[in-house]
Amino acid sequence: IHGSLVTPAEARVDLSAIRHNVAVLRRHAPDAEMMVVVKADAYGHGLVPCARAALDAGADRLGTAYIQEALDLRAAGVTAPVLAWIITPGEPLDDAVAADIELSAGAEWVVDDIAASARRAERTARVHLKADTGISRGGATPLGWPSLVERALAAQAEGTIEIVGLWSHLACADMPGDPATGRQLAVFDEAVEIARKAGVSGPRVVRHIANSAATLTLPEAHYDMVRPGIATYGLTPVPELGDFGLRPAMTLSARVAIVKRVPAGTGVSYGHLYTTDRETTLALVPLGYADGVFRSATNLGQVLAAGRRRTIAGRVCMDQFMIDVGDDQVGEGDEVILFGPGTGGEPTAQEWADSLGTITYEIVTRIGPRVPRVYR
Ligand code: PLP
Repeated sequence: IHGSLVTPAEARVDLSAIRHNVAVLRRHAPDAEMMVVVKADAYGHGLVPCARAALDAGADRLGTAYIQEALDLRAAGVTAPVLAWIITPGEPLDDAVAADIELSAGAEWVVDDIAASARRAERTARVHLKADTGISRGGATPLGWPSLVERALAAQAEGTIEIVGLWSHLACADMPGDPATGRQLAVFDEAVEIARKAGVSGPRVVRHIANSAATLTLPEAHYDMVRPGIATYGLTPVPELGDFGLRPAMTLSARVAIVKRVPAGTGVSYGHLYTTDRETTLALVPLGYADGVFRSATNLGQVLAAGRRRTIAGRVCMDQFMIDVGDDQVGEGDEVILFGPGTGGEPTAQEWADSLGTITYEIVTRIGPRVPRVYR
């Protein structure tokens, strides 16, 4: 959504921050291609505008989890290479192959399904073979890797697929010094070697394993391409190492719907988990757990209103929560900021994550669909 529709709440996304963050990532990995990860609606920031901003800033490719996300990019006219990596049996891979979406295969049946679609479409599908080097999630373990490679090479010989990537994902890149990362890189090197010896070769075969944390802190993990997600949106992948000069792109705000003066001893919201200790002013903020304000932020989450931090007063409801603003001047329609870059005294997504015992990824991806994303 563009422009200035009046809505109860909005998530403003600063696309210049996204472009800045891509430049920061590029400086850390100057010799690698960059695939910016835009799954989950670009981590809640809006798929298409963020994808375009990343490409404008020099990203080479885009990555999604679901095929549908990749198709949405194509439907919006995005022509850059896109890789989708979660595939389940029976999915209509024909659409993906027809739309030139690169697909990940971490099991032999996926190779077979992609090859069958390519045969029907009389096209060659581009495939990245995924190795499970130690995260125990997607991909073939070292035991299954040689036969996955063989299966893919057979399909390549037949002309239905072209192997264009060898890839994996790190489990502990955000834990500086964790020995699991070095072990995964060694397993990855081995997998690449096995594939090369079996005949996977050519300049188009890119090796990639680095998420944001590895892009920013582990040059030895860059290989031919890095695959940052969270850092693109300005959120640090390794909070204990600081912000790497990234700029948070999103500001989540709402406008006060009603203010009221109440006496001391007034119970507030469901269960009366907050009671006023003096005569005071309450303000209703129209965002709730349906919008991604965690219910566990009850009596805990902080917002900026009338220049000061306030703690949520009582239960977070589905669509609203209250704040106690004392004798301060807060009026209906005034802006309340839940989080932003932090430059105006507002909390950051990192503060929200820390106070709720989670990570910024969850804070931004949970913002609900009825909150308009506004690009300024
Ligand atoms: N690559 C894959 C396969 C992922 O699932 C993700 C996200 O979890 C990323 C890259 C990007 O990770 P991050 O957001 O930590 O940079």
